[in-house]
Amino acid sequence: MHTLFPMHTLLVTGGAGFIGSNFVYHWLETHPQDRLIVLDALTYAGNRENLAPLTEHPHLRFVQGDICDRPLIDRLLAEEQVTIVAHFAAESHVDRSILGPGAFVQTNVVGTFTLLESFRQYWLGLEKPAHLRFLHVSTDEVYGSLSPTDPAFTETTPYAPNSPYSASKAGSDHLARAYFHTYGLPTLITNCSNNYGPFQFPEKLIPLMVVNLLQGKPLPVYGDGQNVRDWLYVKDHCTALETVIHRGQPGETYNIGGNNEIKNLDLVHSLCQLMDELVPDLPVSPARNLITFVTDRLGHDRRYAIDNSKITQELGWQPAMTFEQGLRETLCWYLDNRDWWQALLDRSAL
Ligand code: NAD
Repeated sequence: MHTLFPMHTLLVTGGAGFIGSNFVYHWLETHPQDRLIVLDALTYAGNRENLAPLTEHPHLRFVQGDICDRPLIDRLLAEEQVTIVAHFAAESHVDRSILGPGAFVQTNVVGTFTLLESFRQYWLGLEKPAHLRFLHVSTDEVYGSLSPTDPAFTETTPYAPNSPYSASKAGSDHLARAYFHTYGLPTLITNCSNNYGPFQFPEKLIPLMVVNLLQGKPLPVYGDGQNVRDWLYVKDHCTALETVIHRGQPGETYNIGGNNEIKNLDLVHSLCQLMDELVPDLPVSPARNLITFVTDRLGHDRRYAIDNSKITQELGWQPAMTFEQGLRETLCWYLDNRDWWQALLDRSAL
C-alpha cells in the first residue's frame, strides 16, 4: 500500500482494547518498519494480555496512562516524534453509559479534546508537518436510529445520538472536525458499524452469547430481538482504518460497514446453530433453548445501516470476510482461548 512517509511512529490510544489490539497486530504485520506507542489506561475493558505475544517486540512500546493526562500526551508526542495518532481509547459499552454517563463524557469528550489540543501544539512546533495524521475512530451510533425503510447512513446524515455513549462519541467527532476546520489539523474521522472478532470483551453481544452458552447460562435478547445492526469483522475494520490513514483526505469523514444488516435474534439463532455444530457436548442442547427475552434497553435504537460507498469508491476499500466465515472464525477463537475470557469473567465478576 502507498505510504505517506517511509517510516511512521504511531500513538495508538486504547491499543489494549478490542479493536485497538487487532489494529496493533495488523499494523505491525503490514508495516514492519514502523514504531507503535500504545497508550492505554487499562480500564476493565483494556487487557494487557491482548498484546502479550508482542511484549518483547522491538517496535512496540506500551504505556499505561490516561488520554486525559495532558503532560503525559505532550511528553509522548515529543519524545517519540509521533507522526500518526490512531485514537481508539473510549468508554464503549452503551449499557454502561446508561448506568454511569460521567465516565463517557470524561474519556470520550474530555480525553479526545486533550489529545487534539496536545497534538495541535506539537504539530505547530514542527517544520514540515504535512505527513502527520490524527485518525479519530468513531461509531455509526452517532447518526441515531433508522426505520426499516430509511436509507442507510451516509457521511452527511445529520447527527442524532440517542444514548450517553453515542452522544459522547458525537461530541468527540465534532471536536475532531472543528480542529480541522479551525486550525487545519489533519484529522480524519471514521464512523463504523458493529465489530466482531477476537479480543472482544465478553459483555458485548457475540462473546457474551458464546461464554454464556459454554456455561449453560441464559442468552439474554433485548426486547423482541428485532433490532438491526450492520456487522463488520474487526480485521476488515483495521484494513479500512489503514486505508483511511494512507489515502483519506484530512478533514473528511468515512463511514465503514460490511453491507451486512442482521436482526439481533437472527444473529443469535445463527450463533446457536454454529455452536451446536462446533461443541457437541454443550451444557444445554440445542443451544437455542437458552434464548431468553429480557426487558429492552432504555432508548434502544431500532436499526443502524451504513452506506459505505464513499470509502469503497473514493479509497478503494472492500471488506474481505463474509459474515458466515467471520462468525465461525470468531467462535473458534473464543473456543480456543477459554483462559483469556475466563480470566476476564473472574476479574470482572460478570
Ligand atoms: P474497548 O472498550 O474494547 O476498548 C477501549 C480501550 O480504551 C480499552 O483498552 C481501555 O482500557 C481504553 N481506555 C478507556 N478509557 C481510557 C482512557 N481514559 N485513557 C486511555 N485508555 C482508555 O472498545 P473497542 O470496542 O475496541 O472500541 C474502540 C473504539 O472504536 C472506540 O472509540 C469505539 O467508540 C469505536 N467503535 C467500536 C465499535 C465496536 O463495535 N466495538 C464500532 C465502531 C466504533
